[in-house]
Amino acid sequence: METLEIPSFITYAIPAFFLLIGVELSFQWITGRKLYNFRDSIADLSTGVLNRGFTLLYIGFTVAAYSLLFEKLRLVRWDLEDPAQLWMSAILGFLVFDFLYYWAHRMSHEWNVLWAGHVVHHQSEEFNLTVALRQPAFHQLFTWIFFLPLALLGIHPAVLIAIGEISLIYQFWIHTRVIKDLGLLEWILNTPSHHRVHHGRNPEYIDKNHGGTLIIWDRLFGTFAREREEPVYGIVKPFRSYDPLYANLQYWREIVGLMRRASGPLDKLRILFRPPGFEPEHPEKPIVVPSVRPGAQPYRQSTSWARILYVGFWFAVVSGLSLAFLVSESTSVWVLLAVVLWSTLSLVALGQMLSETRRWKQLEAMRLSLTAVLCILLTSSYREWLPEPVGAGLMHVPFFWAVLYAACALGLGWLIGISGRQARQHAEESSAL
Ligand SMILES: [Zn+2]
Ligand SMILES: [Zn+2]
Repeated sequence: METLEIPSFITYAIPAFFLLIGVELSFQWITGRKLYNFRDSIADLSTGVLNRGFTLLYIGFTVAAYSLLFEKLRLVRWDLEDPAQLWMSAILGFLVFDFLYYWAHRMSHEWNVLWAGHVVHHQSEEFNLTVALRQPAFHQLFTWIFFLPLALLGIHPAVLIAIGEISLIYQFWIHTRVIKDLGLLEWILNTPSHHRVHHGRNPEYIDKNHGGTLIIWDRLFGTFAREREEPVYGIVKPFRSYDPLYANLQYWREIVGLMRRASGPLDKLRILFRPPGFEPEHPEKPIVVPSVRPGAQPYRQSTSWARILYVGFWFAVVSGLSLAFLVSESTSVWVLLAVVLWSTLSLVALGQMLSETRRWKQLEAMRLSLTAVLCILLTSSYREWLPEPVGAGLMHVPFFWAVLYAACALGLGWLIGISGRQARQHAEESSAL
């Protein structure tokens, strides 16, 4: 197979994503219109980090399977040395990709097995640019099959990866309430207005506007809905947790419950291909989406400034360090696995702290201890066994490590303080009884 060097557009787009989030945040401060919620955005970005990590673990398998099909079964052979043919294959590939994306996305709303992954993108009750980065960790394990016809058309795997990244980058900016409508472009392109409808849980907006870059597929196949009133965002059964791993597993638990309720083995299996809201005991019953109160407010809890600073600091460290390794080409599979495990544990602990679950303190203590041990390992023999992450220079600055050690020690001290206070309170209460 011809080798084709195409840069990773996503890697370059990440700084632009954060710049645009900054612009939207400034808009919130200037206008006083509440667009962001700290806990929700941290949860969105945490699922984004998990998405990058887990996808990298299995993307090799999906690319290999696609490449095999491309090698053996392609019906068209493009001369990729010729720039005209390369561009033609890329443009045709993009159009067909967008068409297949529409179906993959539509089925992700209509089949439980695919909704289990895609639901992550829809759990937020906010609508801002951080929601765009709220992406599932395991979804691509299933959806890559939809894109196999591109192999028959001779679309090179590297071209397909580039097309997929461009589509994802396009879909970033449409997650905003700041842009109202785009005039004539609304006829062809998927726009913020169309995508707000897609994220709405108003009955008239459910399962509408599945398009990626183009909206023409929805217009053609009858799933288009115009934005008539501001949608109420989120999913029909509200999801109330900031834990990014639970966000990815929650609907699978629901599927298992539905399968238990179904009678025969075939009906149990069919649950995977039933739409969300299907009840095994009443298969004929139409699915009714509950109405929403216009102007209903999203789930928002206030957070103390100390908690915002604490979680904000650790989120920046965890996501920054993880992404530095994940986007580095020299990262081996073992380091990748270690980074994914550490970042998952860390973001779960921070998410559970924000959700104030019963076990958040134990998890946080575990995370801080593990991070301190990793810091010791990284500072002692870092050069010998670790690949160069992006921004490796920072790892040679002693101050960087000093800050991390201090943060781990202070965090553990804080947790011991809280636990001690609670134990004393508990003892006083039981002696009063
Ligand atoms: Zn969707
Ligand atoms: Zn979206």
